[in-house]
Amino acid sequence: MTHKTKEQYTAEAKELLASLKNKTLTPKDRMAIPQQEMPTGEPLERARKMDEVALGYTAEQAQIEAMRCLQCKNAPCMNGCPVSVPIPEFLAKVASGDFKGAVDTVKTTNLLPAICGRVCPQEKQCQGQCTVGKGLKDPEKAVAIGRIERFVADWERENGKIDTPAVAAATGKKVAIIGSGPAGLTVAADVRRAGHEVTVFEAFHKTGGVMVYGIPEFRLPKSIVAQEVETLKKMGVKFETNFLVGRTQTLPQLLQEAGYDAAFVGTGAGLPKFMNIEGENLIGVFSANEYLTRANLMKAYDTERASTPLFEAKNIVVVGGGNVAMDAARMGYRLGAEKVSVIYRRTRNEMPARREEVAHAEEEGVEFRFLENPVKIIGDENGCVKAVQVLSYELGEPDASGRRSPVAIAGSEHEVPCDAVIVALGNGSNPLMVQTTPGLDADAKGHIKVDENAATSYPAVWAGGDIVLGAATVILAMGEGRKAAASINEYLAKK
Ligand code: FAD
Ligand code: SF4
Ligand code: SF4
Repeated sequence: MTHKTKEQYTAEAKELLASLKNKTLTPKDRMAIPQQEMPTGEPLERARKMDEVALGYTAEQAQIEAMRCLQCKNAPCMNGCPVSVPIPEFLAKVASGDFKGAVDTVKTTNLLPAICGRVCPQEKQCQGQCTVGKGLKDPEKAVAIGRIERFVADWERENGKIDTPAVAAATGKKVAIIGSGPAGLTVAADVRRAGHEVTVFEAFHKTGGVMVYGIPEFRLPKSIVAQEVETLKKMGVKFETNFLVGRTQTLPQLLQEAGYDAAFVGTGAGLPKFMNIEGENLIGVFSANEYLTRANLMKAYDTERASTPLFEAKNIVVVGGGNVAMDAARMGYRLGAEKVSVIYRRTRNEMPARREEVAHAEEEGVEFRFLENPVKIIGDENGCVKAVQVLSYELGEPDASGRRSPVAIAGSEHEVPCDAVIVALGNGSNPLMVQTTPGLDADAKGHIKVDENAATSYPAVWAGGDIVLGAATVILAMGEGRKAAASINEYLAKK
């Protein structure tokens, strides 16, 4: 497929919009409007740069795409959204050119639309339920709700129209938020709005959680997350960075000595899982977390200004088939690799990564090795990685998740040469908060246990996001945060 520039998309969209504007559109007309494609950077050029890959809709594209919405009375798309964004209402405003009204409508339930519009797995959520996709018998042709949401949020930011939410009169109550990921930031906003004093404690030197240290710049520019934190600061939320709760001070100390009336734990799932195979301690083996954190948070790619050491691998093998594996693989090229391969033990159909991310990785030159799994990492005489030994697999019967299970083919061992291996097999929860808070209950996997209001077993402590759900999504972390904040506000109002 030839690569189109943003200018070409703009010209085409202007012409189409002019032909649609003064027409009364029937549902049939709306279904016939072509889905607007997302302009992107040229694949081989962008694969060496950290700049954002998806360039965003033009105003004309956003309006045309919103006109594809049928304004369904029962709005099935809203059932697919974990925070029930009023989708038909905001799309109607976009279609009429009222972008500020549209973004205000989205923000009634979703405080971080510029982020969710970029990283939500929309095809499984809102768009997965869209009548247009179903009517066209192609879920990928659903109304591109996420792209339009991103457009209105970007439009608001780029035009200096972001309003700082109003804060109620001071209540004199203090709330501690542990962790500055999407769960913590959402609770901070909602609790601050109710007039409570809010401090966010963050272990790293930068705020934003995985949105800053995990999801790469080329998918989610860090300036967008920083803008959200800036809005919270304007509302009066305080941030204490380089503060590891459980070491700098414990949660019981914050509550009983530092005078906090309530706390929210949103510490995420930051403990990488490994394969536990021979050779995993060789030089050149990384968890995807470490690899991405070096590049994102510590700016290792900026060799002129950053002091973070960069491991200069030329031939990288990434193990895993999820979004984290796609991010690590694409980052590999941006950090100077000449070849990046992804090893996954099932096939493309079973990959949990978003289709769009897989397509972007492939366009950028990432090679996929399906039906293989490492059994050993092989080192050279200096203890550095020189290959992975893998077994070939075939697909057997479906397992509990409904995906066909991979079955090893005996005697199929072979070597894949490489000088770095990045393990992207998911993350577990860090046990520090539970270990240092006697009475805070967790399940066998280390996820903090909560009730239907996100309250934990420890008095005046709520929890949400990945530390409760296991590695999940930004929007689910936000949804949990909103629930917890409502319960905290109710508790403090009675206290
Ligand atoms: P986090 O974002 O993990 O934030 C937790 C914060 O708590 C961190 O900043 C951490 O430093 C801090 N912390 C931890 N312990 C302490 C302590 N003891 N004291 C103080 N601070 C502490 N989701 C999507 O929806 N779309 C995507 O495209 C997507 N891509 C991803 C790509 C990668 C590489 C990764 C790793 C995850 C991705 N996710 C994606 C998942 C998503 O980022 C998480 O589900 C979400 O960030 C969870 O939010 P959270 O607030 O629970 O925790
Ligand atoms: Fe869709 Fe996510 Fe927006 Fe909800 S928040 S409407 S799931 S893109
Ligand atoms: Fe519009 Fe699709 Fe939602 Fe119907 S399901 S209201 S067409 S976005």
